[in-house]
Amino acid sequence: MRRLPFAYFLLCCLAAAMLFRAPALYAQRNTMRLEFEADPSKNTIIGTFMRDGIQYCSLTDLLQALDINASESEEKQKLQFTVGSYSVKAARGNAFLVVNDQQRQSIYQLPLGVVYASGSYFVPLKSFIHFFNNIHQPSLRFNGTYVLVATAPAAPQYDITSVLFEPKSNGMLIRIPTPRPLKDLESWLRNDGWFYVTIPDARADTDAVDRTKPAGMVKKVVAIQSPMSVQLTFKLSGTISSTELIQNPVTKDIVITIRTKGGEDRMVERKRREDLRAGLDLQRDRWDLDVIVIDPGHGGKDWGAIGVSGVREKDITLGIGLKLGKLIKKGLSGVRVVYTRSDDRFIELDRRGQIANEADGKLFVSIHCNSLKRKPNPTRGFEVYLLRPGRTEEAIAIAERENAVIEMEEGYEKRYQQLTEENFILVTMAQSAHVKASEAFADITQREMESRTGLSNRGVRQAGFYVLVGAAMPNVLVEAAYLSNREDERYLKSDSGQQKIAESLYRAIKTYKEEYEKLLLEGREIGEKR
Ligand SMILES: [Zn+2]
Repeated sequence: MRRLPFAYFLLCCLAAAMLFRAPALYAQRNTMRLEFEADPSKNTIIGTFMRDGIQYCSLTDLLQALDINASESEEKQKLQFTVGSYSVKAARGNAFLVVNDQQRQSIYQLPLGVVYASGSYFVPLKSFIHFFNNIHQPSLRFNGTYVLVATAPAAPQYDITSVLFEPKSNGMLIRIPTPRPLKDLESWLRNDGWFYVTIPDARADTDAVDRTKPAGMVKKVVAIQSPMSVQLTFKLSGTISSTELIQNPVTKDIVITIRTKGGEDRMVERKRREDLRAGLDLQRDRWDLDVIVIDPGHGGKDWGAIGVSGVREKDITLGIGLKLGKLIKKGLSGVRVVYTRSDDRFIELDRRGQIANEADGKLFVSIHCNSLKRKPNPTRGFEVYLLRPGRTEEAIAIAERENAVIEMEEGYEKRYQQLTEENFILVTMAQSAHVKASEAFADITQREMESRTGLSNRGVRQAGFYVLVGAAMPNVLVEAAYLSNREDERYLKSDSGQQKIAESLYRAIKTYKEEYEKLLLEGREIGEKR
């Protein structure tokens, strides 16, 4: 009897918590009809809710209705399902769907993260359907009220029926789904903020496009159909630094990136911060910097660069990597170390990113040694690299050398998209969530390397390394020193030299982790200025 009041009190707290928290996070929870055109007896309802103006639907319900087996890994907080040869993973709080198709792994970015609520995984409906229809037949259609499982793919009357907006911290990504390759696309930005896109020989459902709700920096959308072309016009706010337009050769989406000056669209930034703060309690576990991925470059049949006196890059990178792992295990309790390789074996470049993603890595550190063709060479020192298009001949040459290993891999022509300027737009946009964190970590790393190794600091640079492309987490590549320089080679070969490099990387990780967790508690993000 004495316990009753306390139990009652608890119950009240619980009820109050549910009343006040649930509506704030998952406003307007509801359901939606799922209709089967071919067999109405299968019609059912699926869970939905609106959040930040985006319609979410229950992926769990949807898969069940479509008779697709899904399994949940409780520990890793992921939902996994298989459609044909595709295996798809959706992780709680994560906007990236990881898609494996036999050998190949790709990543599809949703506009917002997967939400887990009431025992169900929820995904942004429209963009999920857009993704899903690439791998599943019959296709799904959403008409604003219900989702239809269509009997057959409708012959596309229109090339353009919708425009999707994905606000980014450094601008906006506009995605225009189309069913076929289109040619001679053009775009231009007028001084008064109107942005024009002309698509020749195409048809648009102008009513549907005009009804598109503007988002973020896009204030208005207008579609005009002329006999020869479609013109889409966007009214943009803010100061634009650059725009790019491409058609993705695989999905056929027209992808437009609008970058804002100063790298920040303030409104998006503020909103993101609010979201972060609101979800902080829930996301706390997910954000913990608890898995560090160490990637010792090269290995096995791939020796990497060869030093002046014959030292092999693969041996040095492994030595530094293992020493670093040991330091982390000893010094950072609760942090798991994952190696892409911990012995002398060959690991394909894209497999390294997969290992990191599968382990839910929170930071990816790739370790390499630099080398120049002419040996011995006076150039010496370390460099820390971020994944960007290489801007200098030197950076391009280094990336080419480090990427050359793919030619040792089977079927590499199919597995690696050329890192053209176009693909970089997509890759760097997909990684935009991690750009600031990568920059912050690179900066800390160069400071620690400079003060602890005695090697000369050649700075933070950028180049197109394949190994960084697939890692869906903050990432850097360290070129520890030059094997083509006698002094540097001696340093790299020595146990004490490797230990110093490992210690400075360990210090950098420790500082980054502390800074990251402090900012997180304040509801800010790393790299963000006060
Ligand atoms: Zn290398």
